[in-house]
Amino acid sequence: MAAPLRIYQVAVPAPLYGFFDYLASPQAPAILPGARVRVPFGKREMVGVVLGEADKSILALNRLKQILQVLDSEPVLSANLLQLLTWVAEYYHHPIGEVLHAALPTLLRQGRAAEAGVAVWSLTPAGRAVEANGLSRAPAQKHLLEALSAAPEGLDAEQLAQVSARWSATLKALHTKGWVSAHTRDCLQAANATPSQPPELNPAQRSAVEAILSGLDGFRTFLLHGVTGSGKTEVYLAAIDKVLAQGRQALVLVPEIGLTPQVISRFQQRFRVPIAVLHSGLSDPERLCAWLMARDGKAPIVLGTRSAVLAPISNLGLIVVDEEHDGSYKQQDGLRYSARDVAVMRAARDKIPIVLGSATPSLESLKNARDGAYTLLDLPDRTGSAIMPQVRLLDMRRLKPSEGLSLPLREAVTARLERGEQSLLFLNRRGFAPVWMCYDCGWLAPCRRCDAQLTLHQHRQKLICHHCGAEQEIVKTCPSCQSQNLHPIGEGTERVEGALQKFFPKARIERIDRDSTRGKGMLEEKLRRVHEGEADILIGTQMLSKGHDFPNVTLVGILNADQGLYGVDFRSGERLFQTILQVSGRAGRADKPGEVLIQTWHPEHALFAALQRHDFTGFADYALTERRDTGFPPFSFLALLRAESPQPQAAQQFLAAAHAAALKHRSDQSVQVFAPVPAPMERRAGRFRAQLLVQASKRAALHRLLGPWLAELTGLKAGKRVRWSLDVDPADLY
Ligand SMILES: [Zn+2]
Ligand SMILES: [Zn+2]
Repeated sequence: MAAPLRIYQVAVPAPLYGFFDYLASPQAPAILPGARVRVPFGKREMVGVVLGEADKSILALNRLKQILQVLDSEPVLSANLLQLLTWVAEYYHHPIGEVLHAALPTLLRQGRAAEAGVAVWSLTPAGRAVEANGLSRAPAQKHLLEALSAAPEGLDAEQLAQVSARWSATLKALHTKGWVSAHTRDCLQAANATPSQPPELNPAQRSAVEAILSGLDGFRTFLLHGVTGSGKTEVYLAAIDKVLAQGRQALVLVPEIGLTPQVISRFQQRFRVPIAVLHSGLSDPERLCAWLMARDGKAPIVLGTRSAVLAPISNLGLIVVDEEHDGSYKQQDGLRYSARDVAVMRAARDKIPIVLGSATPSLESLKNARDGAYTLLDLPDRTGSAIMPQVRLLDMRRLKPSEGLSLPLREAVTARLERGEQSLLFLNRRGFAPVWMCYDCGWLAPCRRCDAQLTLHQHRQKLICHHCGAEQEIVKTCPSCQSQNLHPIGEGTERVEGALQKFFPKARIERIDRDSTRGKGMLEEKLRRVHEGEADILIGTQMLSKGHDFPNVTLVGILNADQGLYGVDFRSGERLFQTILQVSGRAGRADKPGEVLIQTWHPEHALFAALQRHDFTGFADYALTERRDTGFPPFSFLALLRAESPQPQAAQQFLAAAHAAALKHRSDQSVQVFAPVPAPMERRAGRFRAQLLVQASKRAALHRLLGPWLAELTGLKAGKRVRWSLDVDPADLY
């Protein structure tokens, strides 16, 4: 009798919950959990990850399919990481196959070998001796040979593809002749041989470092609340130094926009070790290489944006989440996870400390600190002799602005220009004007696909929707009354840039927003000009608010602080406060005192009073009270079911069925299931959107409902006609 077949549970990247059983021959070596396999799935082949072996399957053996190929003899995902990812799938109620897929670099998803390094080709001594001119009858070979001889360090596939689209065949020919050879290039930058000396820490920094170091052998969450300019990074660096000395690794998460070359070089300058950098701008081979360097412990420091929290790190000793309040830690599509929250769970599972740092902590983290779940570490003062900037409110009800700029603000800029200092103006709205309006009948240029107005982009001569990206020519005749009396209303960064040029014709102005930094390297180039004093005035969106130190900026102007003051979302006020405080923090470093001018039509608002006092705690008291009274997080736990469809009623119909199902599954009165409502912007990109909120006072009660509810939702007929998703701990409700 033949030995019984082995059954493996395999997670495949499909939007289906659970795993699938596959067979393998009993003669083949056992496949370890975390190894990749190629399996048939429907009519396709997929790369899946083995979760474990099973004794039996709920399906009859003759209905199970065979594993086609085992891709890894050693697991690519360690048991430890596999457990964390399983937790992520369960907590966010997301298919495990898609979670594992999200955690793997693209090349591993495609089934490539898990080998570090980027393959490069370079000329052999024989190749270097070849006279390229002698190859006139083989122009493709000649061309490639010349490119290789100009690159002594070799070229990788991506670079070769830029030389010639048909490089592969040509390279083969050169290889056959013995003129080129392949080798592997390490993706890590060479470690710094002469690390810089750490600065002397002030007493607050020292005691923060001591607190972190006293807890290196167990799980503990530290909330490092340091005002802007207080030297949080030095605290991270000192703690990391100790962790590295113990032979362990450190994971540092930074916001998407904060991972500037400045941040990377700050780490590189300080440490004598290679650093694996993981962010969305890497090529596929670079990402795989950095991922494997982290996994194999070759990179003691792993520095990355959101998804780096899912990276394999064999010997993790400390996690740092910088600017923990930042919105980019929450993924807004697919697997809607919060990298900060996953990081805390990861630290808990690994029994290591984690440091959440911010000048403006999220209310969630702050409440955890006040409840005693997190340890609060305060850095109340700026380092050195620097003092906090003075904040002044400009009452716009009395000051008539010209193109968004009030007279006192213009005068303050003039004073900076005379002193050779820089000014930073913040306006969180790109484009020329947010509205294009007919003065005769009041018509506003609408997006055809969204419930929103089009933004005028004068430079590109287009009307553009900032919600769906739709573009159209600028309408010159009002479609409603045929008038030609059309005008832009309001200001965006483009318009203010123009106004600044008019007011200050001699000033050098840099605009920093998504439009002006679209090209590769453009942001870096603009920042370089600012740092080297080649700019006098910066005008920009929140791209300016994060992670940059501008030592020569002594004036910050907030042009329209009221945006978001009475926003639709329960987090609007918190976000506004964080943004203004972060932007204000750019003013005045070192020995130059700074000034912050805030233009507002609501100077009496409590938020501004707190801003004037740099009183984050006072603001937090006020905001937390408001949250408790309204029952929003952190005093409750939310899940938002969203649905959308091109058919006007389909989303509402699905949510009505989902609502009934939720009430049926609800066992606990502490869970509230709200009736479905249209999304605040009901139509976006041609789809009608609606949502259903579930709110619970206890996290566990929420998840007890979500599991069985979701299982029923996947079977609902009305769900087949809509696109829907569940967002656990949503960042916003729109
Ligand atoms: Zn009109
Ligand atoms: Zn639109």
